[in-house]
Amino acid sequence: MKETKTKENPEQQEMMDHQEKLDAQEKLLQEEKLEEMKTLLKEKQRTQELLCKKLQEKEVQMLQDLKRLQEEKDEQTLDRLEELCKEVAEIEDDIQILLERMEVMQKDEMEIEIELAKKKLELTNKLKAMQEIIQKVKRGAFNTEGKKQYLEQELDKIRKAENDAPESFLKAKQEVLDKFEEPIETEFQCSICRELLVMATILNCGHTCCRSCIVKWMEEKNNCPICRTSITSQFRSSVMDNIINSWLEIKRLR
Ligand SMILES: [Zn+2]
Ligand SMILES: [Zn+2]
Repeated sequence: MKETKTKENPEQQEMMDHQEKLDAQEKLLQEEKLEEMKTLLKEKQRTQELLCKKLQEKEVQMLQDLKRLQEEKDEQTLDRLEELCKEVAEIEDDIQILLERMEVMQKDEMEIEIELAKKKLELTNKLKAMQEIIQKVKRGAFNTEGKKQYLEQELDKIRKAENDAPESFLKAKQEVLDKFEEPIETEFQCSICRELLVMATILNCGHTCCRSCIVKWMEEKNNCPICRTSITSQFRSSVMDNIINSWLEIKRLR
């Protein structure tokens, strides 16, 4: 066919050749392009695969991260929970301590009330006892006051008699001495030293002693040397002291 064509039309033949060349070139180009495209495609595929792999890796990483985060979160939550539990326990301890304190305080309050009631009763009893003693002492003082006045009157009589006449004085004095010696020496005798009272001290039971005698006595004992009553109080009696001093003065004049 070619031969024929060439023979028939050289221009046409040339054109056809050119066309062929063009076709071949185009084919080559297309093939190249195809190859290029294939390469590109392959590359794209590789890239995609790579990307995919990377994505998968990333996913795995993310999953791991997520898991780790979850665990951390759990751990943190656990830690926080533990802390909270501790705090709650501490608060509970505090409350327990407070409750115990309150209980103790209530107990103390009750004890204090009981103690106060006891003290009140004790004080009331003491007050009663003291009032009784005061009355006793007052009565005693009244009696001794009377005696003192009487003694002083007698002493005056003696002094007067002394001035008036020695004989009548001596007689009067002897009368007083005879009359009072026994009762005074007995009534104003110390229960401990058996001598006339020195700084007469009345005990709550009504018995009397010298101040120094009872102080010494109480270094060892705490009850009356006569009646054994427990000593709860003592009173100094200046009235008794005065009577004794007056009596001693009378005796000195003898
Ligand atoms: Zn005495
Ligand atoms: Zn007594």
